[in-house]
Amino acid sequence: MAQAFRSTRVLTAGGLAPATLLVEGEHITEAGAWKDAPAGATLRDFGDAVLLPGLVDSHVHINEPGRTEWEGFATATRAAAWGGVTTLVDMPLNCVPETTNVEALEDKRAAAKGQAWVDWAAWGGVVRGNADALPELAGAGIPGFKCFLIDSGIDGFAWVDEAELRLALAKLRSTGLPLLVHAEIAGPVRAATEALRAGGADWRKYSTYLASRPDAAELEAIALLIRLAEEFKTAIHIVHLASAQALPLLAEARDRGVPITVETCVQYLWFAAEDIPDGATEFKCAPPIRGKANREALWAALEEGSIDMVTTDHSPCPPAMKRRDEGRWDLAWGGIASLGLALPVLWTAMEQRGMGLNDAMVRVGKWMAGGPARLAGLSGQKGVLVAGADGDIVVFDPDAAWTVAPEHLQFRHKLSPYLGAELRGRVKETWLRGEQVFGADGMVGLARGRELVRR
Ligand SMILES: [Zn+2]
Repeated sequence: MAQAFRSTRVLTAGGLAPATLLVEGEHITEAGAWKDAPAGATLRDFGDAVLLPGLVDSHVHINEPGRTEWEGFATATRAAAWGGVTTLVDMPLNCVPETTNVEALEDKRAAAKGQAWVDWAAWGGVVRGNADALPELAGAGIPGFKCFLIDSGIDGFAWVDEAELRLALAKLRSTGLPLLVHAEIAGPVRAATEALRAGGADWRKYSTYLASRPDAAELEAIALLIRLAEEFKTAIHIVHLASAQALPLLAEARDRGVPITVETCVQYLWFAAEDIPDGATEFKCAPPIRGKANREALWAALEEGSIDMVTTDHSPCPPAMKRRDEGRWDLAWGGIASLGLALPVLWTAMEQRGMGLNDAMVRVGKWMAGGPARLAGLSGQKGVLVAGADGDIVVFDPDAAWTVAPEHLQFRHKLSPYLGAELRGRVKETWLRGEQVFGADGMVGLARGRELVRR
């Protein structure tokens, strides 16, 4: 049965405009002028609510199988649907087994069955010694790979040095798939940490943690990655850029045509080091949240187009692992839980910076939908409201004012640095491939998300 989704504010190629989206089965078949439903189609008139494409979050740690007590498909995808995200791409390290070969990918596929509220895909892992497994993993339908240049915190996910990166890139070159990299290098972090320990630094202080992960770790990693992307002519993607000091380096490389793309995360655009209380380890992530001037430079880079996209890096753990009682930044597990909050947080932040709704939603479409969809090989299918795309539609009320409380958090553990944040904008409904999955009364129907297998 055909459905006509209509509103006076639909995100089109030209910005918010009155439009009607015709959805037949799972796909949008027509995106055109505001009009009545054609004969036989059901009209869904959303008045002047904003209609956005389902958002795409290409950086999420789902942790299942193996660490489902940290997070899992059911809870992560539920949080996604609540927040208007219809596609998640899972990071390969926090699950057991880690997604570093085809058998592990099959385990993940089995674990996801019947649990996902939204569509998903899985990044594969590049770790020390698995270069030979990469072509087969690529052939199994993943959109790309992820690696670390520094300890990942997970024993089964060993970081790679330049020699191992070279082996991996030589294998990846023919696949056309991107390599996503956690761009911090160990040397500067080790040196800074040792100096802080020798000086008797107070590890309850946020300033100590910040000093232990200096900008230099990101700068050195990014310089290496630019060199390798240029040499191997293989797409490299910098995940969670936190240091604005790396921006000139990246802009210069991109101007020269080096195939390198960049994301930053919602937490680096919302929080600032100056405001993080000592001992508040729910803010711990790596690279760390840096200062206010750095934050504003990241915003400027997004605006100029030298950062391509915004993801969440949603990475929860059981609350006890945050060791909030001691408040020791060196002992707490790193990772910020935020899935479901990105859209209102970003809209609130843009409004605070004087941006109007139209300009803000155009940027949301680019940074949180179209951009990550392209990275994950899903251009034209996800992240855009055009004919041929999946019928993933988000109904957003930009005026709702609310304060983040535990009942708003749909992921497994209700610990997040966003608790208490005063936000604007709420997702009212989320539709996945033509069927509603979230609405006023919560989740709707069955969890029928599926894996987006690259063909
Ligand atoms: Zn991550």
